[in-house]
Amino acid sequence: MNLHEYQAKELLREHQLPVPEGAIARSPGEASQCAERLGYPVVVKAQVLTGGRGKAGGVRLAGSAEEAERIAADILGMDIRGHTVRCVLVERAAAISRELYLGVVLDRAARWPTVMGCSRGGIDIEQVAAEDPTAIRYEPVHPLIGLQAYQARRLALDLGLTGAQLRSFTDIASRLYRVYESLDATLVEVNPLAVLQDGTLVALDAKINLDDSALFRHPELAALRDTSAETTAEQAARSAGLSYVSLEGSIGCLVNGAGLAMATMDVIKLFGGEPANFLDIGGGAQADKVGQAMRLLLADGGVRCVLINVFGGITRCDEVARGILAALESIRTEVPFVVRLEGTNAEQGRAMLVAARMQTAQTLAEAAQLAVAAARTAATADAARSPA
Ligand code: GDP
Ligand code: MN
Repeated sequence: MNLHEYQAKELLREHQLPVPEGAIARSPGEASQCAERLGYPVVVKAQVLTGGRGKAGGVRLAGSAEEAERIAADILGMDIRGHTVRCVLVERAAAISRELYLGVVLDRAARWPTVMGCSRGGIDIEQVAAEDPTAIRYEPVHPLIGLQAYQARRLALDLGLTGAQLRSFTDIASRLYRVYESLDATLVEVNPLAVLQDGTLVALDAKINLDDSALFRHPELAALRDTSAETTAEQAARSAGLSYVSLEGSIGCLVNGAGLAMATMDVIKLFGGEPANFLDIGGGAQADKVGQAMRLLLADGGVRCVLINVFGGITRCDEVARGILAALESIRTEVPFVVRLEGTNAEQGRAMLVAARMQTAQTLAEAAQLAVAAARTAATADAARSPA
């Protein structure tokens, strides 16, 4: 789960990290009132759950109430990479002399958190990472002992900081690491961490990603979820207890178990297809859950074929087959299905599907090939119908 910048900054503030003074506005009038309270210049910032707002024109300075109002009117309602801006953060603008990058991220390959720093922070950090990867410094952190002071100092020196700025940076890095740890985050990022003209360091931007699997330990954080930023499919999936990620391809996947879902996507790609989604219906899935998952998949207009791949352990394949057939009675779709059932009661399940004239497969490879072919045929038929 991702947090908005203003939410992330509130959490940083609670951990005594330096963040600019500011407030949220949901209308141009509110933005100008906030600006009046803060004093000029202010910065007006789009609050959307995506980066690159600066480059998209979603971060702008204003020198008066009128200007703040006009800029807020421009930014509110703006679309930034598919995200509609519903509120802006108005802050007292900082006088920046340098922009640094500081982040804590879970390094899944190393299975350790890593603190990352770069002396060239700001909106071009991706470019810096691509062109000059050595400019980014890493300090892997042992999860049991946490970030050590010498590591934070080494990073500060690598970033060219000395004296009071070095001390301030090490303090900020260790507090940021504590934020990462105490919130069960997978990413806590400050970009830019600005060195102001008076020499002080301030977190001008903040990004926090939380580990969904740990949210049960943080009900107060779970309440920060911005459901207005989720697609209807994501909301429906979450309330049905399905783990669902929408993708670009044409083959809808309905699978039990995250590992099997990943493998299914891989095999589809191996045979030249593109999965339309990742969908894990979980273990012991009952017929009604299968139905909900099917509705979710078929609501995606890009789906040309649905591949159901279920391994029955706790889940019984006959129960899954019953779910599929029951759902198809009420859904009524032209989209072809390919079903592969294996494990507990697979024979019974398959027999039920075959009796209902559904396409079944024995192996995953066979199922994927059938699905890729069916999706292709459907796409060709579509293209023939609409010559444009
Ligand atoms: P992002 O583009 O989504 O990462 O948004 P940021 O919050 O990082 O803002 C982008 C850029 O706007 C920063 O790198 C700064 O250069 C600039 N910026 C942000 N806040 C201020 C501010 O208070 N004063 C000034 N002068 N520039 C700012
Ligand atoms: Mn930023």
